[in-house]
Amino acid sequence: MNQPTLPLNLPVVAPKFGVAEWAEASVNIGTGCSHNCRYCYACGNALWRNQIPSRADWTTERLKSHLPKAKKYSGRVMFPTTHDISPFYLEAAVATLRGLLEQGNQVLIVSKPHLVCIQRLCQEFDKFKSQILFRFSIGSLNESLAAFWEPGAPRIPERVECLKFAHAAGFATSVSMEPMLAGTDDAIDTFVALEPYVTDKIWLGKMNKVSQRVDQRDPEVRRRCIQIGKLQCDSEVCRLVETLQGHPKLEWKESITEVIAKGLEASLR
Ligand code: SF4
Repeated sequence: MNQPTLPLNLPVVAPKFGVAEWAEASVNIGTGCSHNCRYCYACGNALWRNQIPSRADWTTERLKSHLPKAKKYSGRVMFPTTHDISPFYLEAAVATLRGLLEQGNQVLIVSKPHLVCIQRLCQEFDKFKSQILFRFSIGSLNESLAAFWEPGAPRIPERVECLKFAHAAGFATSVSMEPMLAGTDDAIDTFVALEPYVTDKIWLGKMNKVSQRVDQRDPEVRRRCIQIGKLQCDSEVCRLVETLQGHPKLEWKESITEVIAKGLEASLR
């Protein structure tokens, strides 16, 4: 198949992966996540490191025996990266964030957010506003898609309400649309709807490593995985790039810049 071609004025971005695309350091306080996303990379890592005995155990949330000692990091700190700020983790998250903020760190708070948690964080850390950037994960506005891929996470309207709440409270806000839960048209609709409540960036990325991360023993799950592969194929990603490229609040994750680079190479041949 010919590679799709792209306009030559697109930037070529030096590759960075995962957390490194967003922060210089990461802090976590537990193992397990009740959100139970089917594509969760952290669950796979926990299994590989023998931190949990089986995938089914991932939804049991456990705090570490000691919270991380607060210190000043040389760059932005992302919290959390291997679980979420669920109601179970909330109090420990508040204590951990307070330590990070009092040390003068810039903190990126990433979550599929619960309203009760975001209201608490906004109230608790009002005076640290200039050090906080919220990033809420909303891969689609389609509730049935989110319910399938992220069965334990807050429903989409609650996540959107969190974004609006933090924005109205004067915090810096951003969105992660990685993974996108559908194809180009859904991603564009989601981007356009959320953009007014974002002061920073909306990051778009494909659903990565589906064959490794998603348990596909159920035929319906297998069907959905094949479907998302088609919806996020290179030609569809190029259509997305051509539509949104240049928007001041847009950032592409590595899974998309990789497709852009392939398209550029093909254009130069
Ligand atoms: S919210 Fe994050 S850590 Fe929790 S299950 Fe989903 S992908 Fe994994």
